[in-house]
Amino acid sequence: MILGIDIGGTTSKLGLVQDGKVIARARIDTLGHADEHAFADALADAGHRLVRADDHRPLRAVGVGAPNANQLTGIIEMAPNLPWKHDVPLARMMTDRLKVPAVLGNDANAAALGEWRYGAGRGIDDLLVVTLGTGVGSGFIVNGQLVLGSAGNAGELGHMILIPGGRACTCGRQGCLEAYVSIRGMIATYTEAGGSEDVADVKAIADRARASDVAAIECFRRTTEWLAIGLANAVCATGPKRIVLFGGIARNGDLLMAPLRDRFHEVLLNIYKGRVDLTVSALEEDDAALLGAAALGEVGGEGSHAEARRARS
Ligand SMILES: [Zn+2]
Repeated sequence: MILGIDIGGTTSKLGLVQDGKVIARARIDTLGHADEHAFADALADAGHRLVRADDHRPLRAVGVGAPNANQLTGIIEMAPNLPWKHDVPLARMMTDRLKVPAVLGNDANAAALGEWRYGAGRGIDDLLVVTLGTGVGSGFIVNGQLVLGSAGNAGELGHMILIPGGRACTCGRQGCLEAYVSIRGMIATYTEAGGSEDVADVKAIADRARASDVAAIECFRRTTEWLAIGLANAVCATGPKRIVLFGGIARNGDLLMAPLRDRFHEVLLNIYKGRVDLTVSALEEDDAALLGAAALGEVGGEGSHAEARRARS
């Protein structure tokens, strides 16, 4: 039994995971606690209640996915979307409270491990998982190991510059992939292509494209082109066998995935052609973050912080 915890800006979710399935769930508010210690107490209480309600199966580990979480140190580092504006050593705080090893990792890496252990990347030891949402996240698994990098911050595909001097990105630079193929990026593309400014999400653009709206069709065409190039560039770095795309944007099979597969294989460097496939996550959106967090707890990751190493041993 593994406890997966997904920390979000307003709500934090908990799930007991067994054999790749979420068998019990809980949630607490992320906001409104006196400080991070009070938050950790509330999280641990909710975790204890879940475990107690589940009879006598012992808890083996805890995995926590959070924005700006550093898997090398076990610390959430000044996350802009979380209430604490300083470093929070949450892995140690949860290990102290729940008395089992806790592994902390960022949400994109959690998603990658979730796909690798339980999802569309199961058993594929060279895998790239890309999350397309408000931002663009990624996790690289190479030779059966999650790539953390020298400082625990590897795998920021969303911030590879695609268009020099291009759109302003949330990171303060210009032209990053994320500024083009995220939800916000697609809305900007739709407006640039002559679409009206009243669209709130990608589903609205997709609905219009299916109703033959010229700007919406052009938005998907440009998104396909940028994403194909971004992914083909990423393949050159680690040579994955499979790429899994996660998020609502990727669920547009007709408008995005079909043309994307064609274009991706066209722009792929020759030596990779026929050696890498592109697929969409099969995990339920609601459970994916919890399964990813649980996979962090289960797999840990060599080179991770001390609590993670204990989880492995
Ligand atoms: Zn950026």
